[in-house]
Formats: sequence, C-alpha cells, structure tokens
Amino acid sequence: MAPSDDDLHDRDEHLDREQAEPTRPRPTAPIAIRAVVRGKVQGVGFRDATVGRARELELMGWVRNDDDGALRVHAEGPVHAVAELTDFLRNGPPHARVEEAAIDTVTVEGHEQFAVRGVSAGVFVVQEHAASAHHFDLRLELDGVMRSWAIPKGPSLDPAVKRLAVEVADHAMAHNRFEGKLEAGAVIVWDRGSYEQGGRVAWPQALTRGHAVFVLHGEKLRGGFALQRTRPGNKAQWLLIKRRDEYAQPGSDIVAERPCSVLSGRRLDELDA
Ligand code: MN
Repeated sequence: MAPSDDDLHDRDEHLDREQAEPTRPRPTAPIAIRAVVRGKVQGVGFRDATVGRARELELMGWVRNDDDGALRVHAEGPVHAVAELTDFLRNGPPHARVEEAAIDTVTVEGHEQFAVRGVSAGVFVVQEHAASAHHFDLRLELDGVMRSWAIPKGPSLDPAVKRLAVEVADHAMAHNRFEGKLEAGAVIVWDRGSYEQGGRVAWPQALTRGHAVFVLHGEKLRGGFALQRTRPGNKAQWLLIKRRDEYAQPGSDIVAERPCSVLSGRRLDELDA
C-alpha cells in the first residue's frame, strides 16, 4: 500500500531541509547485466581490476575466470554505474586485450556483495564417525576453524534428497587428517578437498542468516551445495541439499557407493572391528 500524505509528512520531519526538498532525484530501480569477456582476459589482472571498479561503483554481483578462458561478470545496481562497468569491461585493464564483450541484461538477483567466484575459500572434510549414533561430519574451513555439521545419513549427490545436518561445535583444522579409533567411536576421512563460497551474501554472514551456498571440490563430492537452516538455536538444524549442476547424480547414493576412506582406502567397519 502506498504511504499516505500524513506518513510522508511524518517522515519528512526527521529529515534535514535539503533531504526533504521535494525535487530531489529519486533513486532509479537497479538493473543487472551478465558479461562474457573473451580475448587475453586472464592472467592480466582483469578479475581484480573488475572487483575494484565494481566496488568503487558500489555494484553488487560477482566475477569469475572460467575454464574456457573467458571472464564472466554479473553486475547489478544503478543504470549509470552498470554502464560505467560495462565500458570498463569492453576495454579492460592495461595488459588485457578484449576481443569480444557479450553483455546481456538479466534479472536482478539481489546480491549483497561483489564477490570473486571460482576461488578457494579453504578446505573441507567429511569424516564418517561410528559414534553411538553413526553419522558423517561435514566441516568447512572458516576464519581458521572448521565449522561443523553432523549428518546422520551422510551427504547426497541427488538434488531431490535433503539431508538433516545438525550444527555441532567447531573443530580445529588439525583434526581434518584424523582417522582412527576414538573412545567416542572410529573415524575415517570419507572425503576432503577445497571449497568455494557462493551465494548473494558474503560469508560468514550467509551462515549467520541460515542460507549458505558453496561448491565442493572433493574426491567424491563435487559441485554446488546449499545449507539451509530450518531450526535455529543450540544444535541448530539445517538441510544439506545438492544443487542441480553437471555434478548432480539423481538417484545415486554416494555414501553406499563409495564407502572407503580417501586417506587409507579402509572402510569404517574395518577400522572399528
Ligand atoms: Mn562426529
């Protein structure tokens, strides 16, 4: 519902004279573009320069160096700022040579940062743990510790499967290599690798808000995943969901198909015997 005149007057009382001037320009709706820039565009500081320019212009979105040699950019914000970034992308920084810049107008996605995509944010590990209740521990490196979730049924590569993930205490990074018998049950390193942070919101804010998107580069787990918090508080409950991408395996059961440690080749039951 549009605010009434009374509402507007009430608000104006809180503004200084200049801001309350009725002829002040109204902010225009943001627009968004996707750009694919080809040529000599990687290894020439283009990505970092794009980040710098976009942040100066207070644009939101992301930039990534893709495997096909192209630089890809999503940018959203005021028309004039997007136009300035577009001009920059058509030329690039001094050592770049742009052969083609394909720019499409796309839907505004509501990004709250200008991120670099496709770069490692740290390591991840999944440890299978024969505790009183058998589970898998997913751990993501963040600010020097391993943020951890206990997943009773383990991760899945099937996007139709949502796995309960209970937030548990941070672990030290030194524990990532641990495999063996503990008083609390045997542990194997079921998978490990690096991960990328994704999403529209910067980490760790994404976790604080309860929706975090990330890409795993493991031996068994690959591609995009989302952690969605469903119940906050102590031992918060989340769902771990595989995103639909080329690494998704509908109908698969990776936990059953690949039971062995990526460190030793041993299965948890062999270790626990
Ligand atoms: Mn555990």
